[in-house]
Amino acid sequence: MTTTATTTTTTRMLTAADRCDRCSAAAKVIAVLPSGSELFFCRHHFTEHEAGLAKMGATITEPTAELV
Ligand SMILES: [Zn+2]
Repeated sequence: MTTTATTTTTTRMLTAADRCDRCSAAAKVIAVLPSGSELFFCRHHFTEHEAGLAKMGATITEPTAELV
């Protein structure tokens, strides 16, 4: 028996087609709101909205963490 369960634990990957929701720069960070909405941010705009996202209880994912 095969059970096709729908899990939300998909590993999101960013591609060059993913763009920041605030500008047209390449997205670097994904913020998933408790409602399930996904928001894409470039580094610049993520920094700008980080506090607000945290307040909303967003889950932050950085698929390409290139922190030195
Ligand atoms: Zn941006």
